[in-house]
Amino acid sequence: MKVKISQIQRFCLHDGPGIRTTVFFKGCKLKCPWCSNPENISFSIEEKYPDELKGKEWELDELYCELIKDKTFFDKEGGITFSGGECLWQFENLEPLLKKLKENKYNICIETALNVPTKLIDIALKYVDFYYVDMKIVDPTKQSLINSDVNLFIQNLDRVLKHTDNITIRIPCVRNYTFTEENLNRILEILKNRRIKNVELFKIHRLAESKYKSLGKEMPLFENILNDEMNQIKDRIKTVVKNVEIIHI
Ligand code: SF4
Repeated sequence: MKVKISQIQRFCLHDGPGIRTTVFFKGCKLKCPWCSNPENISFSIEEKYPDELKGKEWELDELYCELIKDKTFFDKEGGITFSGGECLWQFENLEPLLKKLKENKYNICIETALNVPTKLIDIALKYVDFYYVDMKIVDPTKQSLINSDVNLFIQNLDRVLKHTDNITIRIPCVRNYTFTEENLNRILEILKNRRIKNVELFKIHRLAESKYKSLGKEMPLFENILNDEMNQIKDRIKTVVKNVEIIHI
């Protein structure tokens, strides 16, 4: 069994507890204009991309050896984080490796937008210890802007929450997309009455600009969101979700 990966990053400190090795999978069916990993939208190894963004197919045994190279640094908390793209699209192929990591007691995190068929969520539920869930456009009248399915997202979110509360909700704050009154109200509605302990709010950065250029694309510009506006949404979340921990990046 093989999987397609663009990059493996070591010693990551922000992709889950402890020190982690993060794996970026190829392929995503959403179309977020602010995407910071545009090389991972395509499900294929793109020969026309520069070498460092092209990606590579990995045999699972080869990948397992690569991932556990830094095991001495993981200590009790650290481990492996699967990101993307949308890593869940490759979870059927990845399952033997997930099983082996779990049998050997490695901590597994994923970063996901949960916009995938429920059968893939069910694979994750067997092995994943911690979920970073992106909550983007959840206003159904605007879902087509990023090609998402809000009902599927909510159904999958509830499926994960039924199983674990080891979830951090990540909200990218993007003017005219996620950061509209209608969408923010909808986000509050979804967060309310659900077992959410951690939320991260973040502004869009332009670190991926050079990657866009290397791919012959232009990264769109977004109007900045003021710190006051970020603080307001933070306060609004706190009024509807009891005891939530909110980080504002
Ligand atoms: S879900 Fe993530 S990888 Fe997919 S387009 Fe959006 S930001 Fe990019």
